[in-house]
Amino acid sequence: MAKKESGSSYSFFNQQMAMHSILKLEMGNHLREALDRNELEIVYQPQIDCLKGTIVGVEALLRWNHTTKGYISPADFIPISEELGMIDAIGEWVLRGACHQMKAWHSDSDERLSISVNISVKQLNDDRFVDKVIAILEQSGLEAKYLEMEITENVAMQDEQMEVLHKLRQLGISISVDDFGTHYSSLSYLKRFPVTKIKLDQSFIRGVQTEAKDRDMIKAIISVANAFQLQIIAEGVETEEQADFLVTNGCSQIQGYYFFRPMRPEHMHAALSERLQDKLAFLAATS
Ligand code: C2E
Ligand code: MG
Ligand code: MG
Ligand code: MG
Repeated sequence: MAKKESGSSYSFFNQQMAMHSILKLEMGNHLREALDRNELEIVYQPQIDCLKGTIVGVEALLRWNHTTKGYISPADFIPISEELGMIDAIGEWVLRGACHQMKAWHSDSDERLSISVNISVKQLNDDRFVDKVIAILEQSGLEAKYLEMEITENVAMQDEQMEVLHKLRQLGISISVDDFGTHYSSLSYLKRFPVTKIKLDQSFIRGVQTEAKDRDMIKAIISVANAFQLQIIAEGVETEEQADFLVTNGCSQIQGYYFFRPMRPEHMHAALSERLQDKLAFLAATS
């Protein structure tokens, strides 16, 4: 909250706030039209199981290509869509698109990849959320066991929201904690929260080669996952050294630029037939 402060810093703060509100409203107005104008798009980033040597799933990531302003990052417009009450509509659009896309991939190959969709904690406040999810699964024909929802705990989770996660879990949907170890996600939540997977945040991965503390943190989180019998995946993996360290320490699922960048759906077919052997050469060297 704004504290009354002396002189210029107070008015400077207000100016900043006013500017922020104008930008927010402007972006909100544009966002409302974005869906109709087909400016939103979903890209997909493969998730690799290094021990299997294959792609096992993909994460759906939202993109906004604004006609005049160009590319706008989801890290910027998702928080604004949450504040302006537009996240329910946008989130539903992403979930529907991602489930239909995955069903289409299932229909034209024997691969059974799973689809991970980011869900904002705010969406869990919508009384109809579970019914919307059931309807999307029915309409797309995708089996619930291939759907995973990634939740970032950037706000502390309420009991009612936790209850919604339990209902989703009962449908057979997997739940993963995104950006684990940052924000509010804590050990006590893992006890109450019907989680199936932890996503190791990329901020820890970045320090693998240089920071002993990051290496220790990664090892600690992997042992937590093992203790709670949860799956674990590392995100933001960019180098062979990072991948090697992770796999050696028991995290075999990896997502990051080292393997693939998020891509348009038409490029998935080529990605699936790509040989991953060269990128997994570190496995042979360490074993
Ligand atoms: P996230 O779910 O933690 O997604 C990971 C982010 O890291 C993505 O950024 C991805 O493109 C990026 N990334 C993946 N591999 C690498 C790598 O090797 N190096 C680096 N430096 N980055 C990598 P993106 O696509 O910009 O998304 C940012 C955030 O926006 C996501 O973080 C997620 O919290 C949110 N978001 C994206 N799409 C949706 C959506 O449909 N719904 C909601 N609620 N949030 C979304
Ligand atoms: Mg995510
Ligand atoms: Mg996130
Ligand atoms: Mg993340």
